Amino acid sequence: MDKCSFCGRDKRETNLLIAGISGHICDSCVEQAYEIVQEETKKTHPFDLSSIKLLKPKEIKKFLDLYVIGQEDAKKIISVAVYNHYKRLLQSNRKDTEEVEIEKSNIILVGETGTGKTLLARTIAKLLHVPFTIVDATVLTEAGYVGEDIESILSRLLQVADYNLEAAEKGIVFIDEIDKIARKGDNPSITRDVSGEGVQQGLLKLLEGSVVNVPPQGGRKHPDQKMIAVDTRNILFICGGAFEGIERKIAQRLNTTVVGYNAARKSDIIDRNNLMQYIAPQDLRAFGMIPEIIGRLPMLTYLHPLDRKALRSILTEPKNAIIKQYVKLFQIDGIKLTFEEESLEYIVEKAVEFKLGARGLRSICEAIMIDAMFELPSEEENEINITFDYAKSKVEKVNLQRLKAA
Ligand code: ADP
Repeated sequence: MDKCSFCGRDKRETNLLIAGISGHICDSCVEQAYEIVQEETKKTHPFDLSSIKLLKPKEIKKFLDLYVIGQEDAKKIISVAVYNHYKRLLQSNRKDTEEVEIEKSNIILVGETGTGKTLLARTIAKLLHVPFTIVDATVLTEAGYVGEDIESILSRLLQVADYNLEAAEKGIVFIDEIDKIARKGDNPSITRDVSGEGVQQGLLKLLEGSVVNVPPQGGRKHPDQKMIAVDTRNILFICGGAFEGIERKIAQRLNTTVVGYNAARKSDIIDRNNLMQYIAPQDLRAFGMIPEIIGRLPMLTYLHPLDRKALRSILTEPKNAIIKQYVKLFQIDGIKLTFEEESLEYIVEKAVEFKLGARGLRSICEAIMIDAMFELPSEEENEINITFDYAKSKVEKVNLQRLKAA
């Protein structure tokens, strides 16, 4: 009588006995083995740093180049920061007390909306082997007010890390719309400033690295809820914000410094059309960020507004460019989709005209493609070429002003 070589059960006692070269295995042993495999691989995967190949900053940037057009400075800074983040983690794994301790350098990205801040963060996340989460600063409030406690940021990270505390403590958090928690007005308010300074103070605790008690499920702290103590010392924070109107602060500063002792640099020609490139920590302060926060975000970089050329590239060049996506969609139906160069230029033209930015490219493309996407799959046609006239006729049917409002 055949027996399971693992548990010794007779064939009769099993539902199924699978024969191997020199043994047998029963269904319940297969199930058990499957669970063990699942459990074991979860332990080493996906947040196991010892098994990863450390990408060099140049390689990280090359990867970012595949998805993000332009924004060279920001890409460079992020590549270096992520590389250093890994090095620091590997070093802290070794627990060698003799060595110089590498401190983390959190990053702040400043740039108009739709210039690729979130895209950068999402792209870097694709490459990472550490838990990563994106949070929106606008929902954060001081404890006791309507909204989410600051600690909810760490709850999210814990969730992403599958409650693996060790992994979460090495994660990366992208905090979007950080400018929305700026102090309103230049003067420190003496009344309680719910959406501003209090939140910044709370955030500071996380940024500078401390042990924070976190409600595991997120949401409100509850007196008898079990808390998890998370050490934020090794968590890398990347903050992003549009800082609308900060150009005025930059201009003010530049005007005042040229008459100061920096007068020798007066001859430096200031490019008034792109003041963002001169951004300095004191501008963030003038905007309403508290100095302590700025001090904890030592890597300050900016994203360029997207010009026509960049928008044109965004349409077709990134690995998952919008146009490539449409071509793929039609390909699945066996339809060959092509775009005339003039129609692509027209899409860019409209995005610029209605100040829709990169986000608008997709809505304009949608407007152009919707009829074809609706009709073609049920027609004989297996080819479509989008000409300038075709694009124009479709776009003129919709109200782009409405898209702008969206
Ligand atoms: P932000 O976070 O700065 O407001 P996003 O990163 O969300 O802007 O950008 C919105 C969309 O615009 C992205 O999903 C992407 O499709 C496109 N986009 C913006 N900037 C770029 C860029 N530099 N390269 C490629 N695509 C971009």
